[in-house]
Amino acid sequence: MLINQKKINKGVILMRNHRCNAFFAEKHLAGGNDMWKSDEYYLEKAIEVSRKSRAGGNTPFGCVLVDGDGEIILEQGNVEITEKRCTGHAETVIMERASKLYDKKFLWNCTLYTTCEPCPMCAGAVYWGNVGKVVYAMTEERLLQMTGSHEQNPTFTMTCKEVFAKGQKKIKVEGPFDSLAEKAAEVHFGYWDN
Ligand SMILES: [Zn+2]
Repeated sequence: MLINQKKINKGVILMRNHRCNAFFAEKHLAGGNDMWKSDEYYLEKAIEVSRKSRAGGNTPFGCVLVDGDGEIILEQGNVEITEKRCTGHAETVIMERASKLYDKKFLWNCTLYTTCEPCPMCAGAVYWGNVGKVVYAMTEERLLQMTGSHEQNPTFTMTCKEVFAKGQKKIKVEGPFDSLAEKAAEVHFGYWDN
């Protein structure tokens, strides 16, 4: 009788502990998820950055880097013209900055949201910087329709998926986003006409 009672008591304590852990686990998850917004939200932020980039005298590209909790930790526009820097694409520069601030393990859980599909150089920077996921609004092909052979941006016809496919890690890619592709493209209207 006494042994049974002990077993029962132990069982209740275990159940209480289990519930307690489950409660904290749920709370932790809820806290983490609270910060996550939709892909469209982060892409809208990137589009805002691309507008600022154009207004600041550079080509109309922008991106934001989001950590594993959904927080925007960096934003970057193109700096090619103002810094006279041929590698000044938004995504390459944000990767350079990110690698100075965070280690590769942390960056693997980050997502790069960018207005346009990364070019081969930027896809390479994402690969070497070790960011695990890329989300873009409009395709490189759509950009090519607008830039043509403009000497400032003679756009490639190679997708970032093609670049990643030749590497040794599985970087996830999502895009284009039909709901925002034209909004991202609009920032370019009139820019490549000359
Ligand atoms: Zn690029």
